[in-house]
Amino acid sequence: MTMSRGVIDDVPLSTIFPQASAVDLEAVQQAARAVDAARTWDERPEWEWALAHAVFPGASPGTPVVFGVDVVAYSGGGDQPEFLLQMLWTEDGRLVVSAAVSVACWCETDHATHDVDAIELAVGTGTSIGQAFEVGAERLVGWLADPRDADYWRDRAALPPRWER
Ligand SMILES: [Zn+2]
Repeated sequence: MTMSRGVIDDVPLSTIFPQASAVDLEAVQQAARAVDAARTWDERPEWEWALAHAVFPGASPGTPVVFGVDVVAYSGGGDQPEFLLQMLWTEDGRLVVSAAVSVACWCETDHATHDVDAIELAVGTGTSIGQAFEVGAERLVGWLADPRDADYWRDRAALPPRWER
């Protein structure tokens, strides 16, 4: 699935969230701008979206992401934390906001990556798209204010630090 990419002003929010109210769309855009303001090192902060996932595409291989961002804290050496914020469909067709911090694994057994912190919020009765996205975005902005060092995050999750394999 190819994702479109662009700055927040390029994102066709009303098309990818046809069920959202104008107030909700405004909330999503404001929260996305707050995320952009927190990633000061990105000269052109981009977002990703998939028009094909505006409605639930049905159970399919991979995760149907509607809209989101993967903020990589480049620190050299290819060992940087990634901060993800995504609106996606679960296997059973529920729209959720998912936010996570992901780091490379340096365990004896190679797990590739670990989500060292994560939250997931369901959109639905009592929680609008805008409200759920605001909570996820606030969490992401909080993480982006923490050290952008992968060993800091591994230590917080009681995972082994980086070593030479
Ligand atoms: Zn591991």
